[in-house]
Amino acid sequence: MSSSEVERHVNWFALEKACGRAGCPVCSIVEERTTRYIDNMLFEHVSDRGFRAQYRLAQGFCTRHGKNLESFRDGLAVAILGEDILQSLMAEIQSRKFKKTKALCPACSAEQTVEREFLGYIAERTEHEFIEFFSRSSLLCVPHYRALCVTTKKIPRWLIESHEARYASLLQRVRSFIECSAWGRQTDFDALSDEDKIVWKELARTLRGSR
Ligand SMILES: [Zn+2]
Ligand SMILES: [Zn+2]
Repeated sequence: MSSSEVERHVNWFALEKACGRAGCPVCSIVEERTTRYIDNMLFEHVSDRGFRAQYRLAQGFCTRHGKNLESFRDGLAVAILGEDILQSLMAEIQSRKFKKTKALCPACSAEQTVEREFLGYIAERTEHEFIEFFSRSSLLCVPHYRALCVTTKKIPRWLIESHEARYASLLQRVRSFIECSAWGRQTDFDALSDEDKIVWKELARTLRGSR
């Protein structure tokens, strides 16, 4: 098997597993891979020149990716990376003239690579087995469906139809939740399924993804 074939199998199984979890499968893979990426960078590539340069240019991870640094096991790695940044910022701190950061957070950029790879992979699937398990999942969140539409010229019919149907049904369920929440509709509200009683959570997740 060539390495690109191996890669394709890896993608298939990663998606199959992610489809068994609640929420957008691409969000779930991105989250898992990004955590692994940050871990890997902190534990093995702290002295990697390329990573260090990118990290310094970006002035570290963005707020979203940097917020867990305090809880990392390896304080030394966090200190080494942070020393670099603070050191390069001292002149700006002293002059109180701060330059805009030019580079993208390295974890955000790793995230974009994973997203592009998986969305491209999904858009090429025509296998019955794949369509079957993917269609049973929560499908893509709106930001990932939008990204798919923006980056992919030829999206297979099954993918378009399943997303349009899923979003339309979500809209119906949300409308019914709103109606049943009105005063005097308690009996109708009680009759909603457990899932429909908390459909607003599903809506929030679908609109935003897990980012
Ligand atoms: Zn998503
Ligand atoms: Zn980031």
